[in-house]
Amino acid sequence: MLGLMQNHPLLISSLITHAERHHAEAAIVSRRVEGDVHRTTWGGIAKRSRQVANALNTLGLSRGDRVATLAWNGYRHLELYFGVSGAGYVLHTLNPRLHPEQLAWIVNHAEDSVLVFDTTFLPLVKAVHTQCPTVKHWIALCDAAAVPADSGVPGLQSYEAWMGQQPDTYDWPQFDEHTASSLCYTSGTTGNPKGVLYSHRSTVLHAYGAALPDALNLSSRDSIMPVVPMFHANAWAVPYSAAAVGAKLVFPGGALDGKSVYELMEAEQVTMAAGVPTVWQMLLGHMEAGGLRFGTLQRTVIGGSACPPAMMDTFKQRYGVDVIHAWGMTEMSPLGTVCILKGHQEGLAADAQRSVRLKQGRVVYGVDMKIVDPDSGAELPWDGKTYGDLLVRGPWVTAGYFKLDNSALLKDGWFHTGDVATIDADGFMQITDRSKDVIKSGGEWISSIDVENIAMAHPAVAMAACIGMPHPKWDERPIVVVVKKPGAQLSREELLAFYEGKTAKWQTPDDVVFVEAIPLGATGKMQKMKVREQLADYRLPIA
Ligand code: AMP
Repeated sequence: MLGLMQNHPLLISSLITHAERHHAEAAIVSRRVEGDVHRTTWGGIAKRSRQVANALNTLGLSRGDRVATLAWNGYRHLELYFGVSGAGYVLHTLNPRLHPEQLAWIVNHAEDSVLVFDTTFLPLVKAVHTQCPTVKHWIALCDAAAVPADSGVPGLQSYEAWMGQQPDTYDWPQFDEHTASSLCYTSGTTGNPKGVLYSHRSTVLHAYGAALPDALNLSSRDSIMPVVPMFHANAWAVPYSAAAVGAKLVFPGGALDGKSVYELMEAEQVTMAAGVPTVWQMLLGHMEAGGLRFGTLQRTVIGGSACPPAMMDTFKQRYGVDVIHAWGMTEMSPLGTVCILKGHQEGLAADAQRSVRLKQGRVVYGVDMKIVDPDSGAELPWDGKTYGDLLVRGPWVTAGYFKLDNSALLKDGWFHTGDVATIDADGFMQITDRSKDVIKSGGEWISSIDVENIAMAHPAVAMAACIGMPHPKWDERPIVVVVKKPGAQLSREELLAFYEGKTAKWQTPDDVVFVEAIPLGATGKMQKMKVREQLADYRLPIA
């Protein structure tokens, strides 16, 4: 017997329709590449996303065609989020930090028909446009007057001229909720990047899940700054969930330096922010130097890579801001777990609470996870100690990559994350490592994240990457590659002594290598492959 409830498809257009009807006055504030701060509302975004849909419908595209963006976080990007998907096209968010060749490869693989970009990225567009034959329409996110006459990109149009003259009325089409809505390629640290193709249903369910109190806890009372880019895994659902709850959004644009982020946060009374650790490092550096304080910020979601304990402590102890540690992947839309204490843990002593908060957290309802033995595939216990390969499944987890053979991707319906983790009796998951970064020393595993976190707690260390080096007796031993804070003094011996008492002797790195910089990938993560390449001639000091 079937239920007797209405059958409304879960479509992205319903999010913007809701935001306009119930939160039309809620502000959307954006720092623009033009240099100013622009203000609109959810009502304004709704109108302009309908104009975008009308403009797209003049281009002779078919449903499902890809419309790519190369853009910072801002109101125009938000209009495209709703206008493109809402009209039945697929929003393909491109990462502008990629190498031009890799970018062209992705555009060709996705067969993008339209490419819309912030004017900051004109040099990148110039470098790739001749290699992108599928793109028939190049649109710059600016006024007509700002499009350079000598852009070198044939037929380049201004976004404002293109969509601005369109009517702002449009009936969003209704279609199957399983229809593709958006596409995002993984960072591709090994091999070619892979396209994750989200559906309307997965996106709307993920938006509900992300807004829950034990997830990002979003509401109409929040002023949210997504520093995490809209080109990286949907800015962790913030654009969609904020529409669902009617929150104010504050977009930092391309100005991600500590000063710009801080000033915008204070001016717009931001209560909640989200981003990867590297961005917060710049913000904290600026605040420390100027003796600054937050006026309104209550919490910040940190994910994308492990949050260094020292960063969590600084936010909490010096600035009274709660860090919410979260874990996810492009393949998971991206939210998997969020670290919010359970009721019975709130009475724990500060130290015990801290060690829970440093974990990556509990699953959001909608995601199921388990850890398994890498060889036998047998499920491992949730004792907070046993580690194994982390597997996930759920309605917003990928079932296959775009245009690839996916026959072997899911084993028994579970997606292999490539992360190694423990899960404790309360269901809190902790990432030990990426499986390829784990260091195997004498048959025991050493977590590179643990080694890095200790180095990061040293006041003279700005960044640390731990990698395994071949060792004749132990197979591998860890070394730590360190960037010092500007002007700071630190010797190899001092840092190694700093590990004493903080970890077992055999888990202490064998050596410290000081470098000027650690290469970061397009999503702000340390590129350990590149660090390893740089140290190709390095040999461990073996006593
Ligand atoms: P991406 O798809 O580029 O967002 O990368 C996903 C990967 O980032 C995950 O599989 C993890 O290895 C890593 N990651 C994301 N969040 C965290 C976190 N909070 N702690 C440790 N690693 C993380």
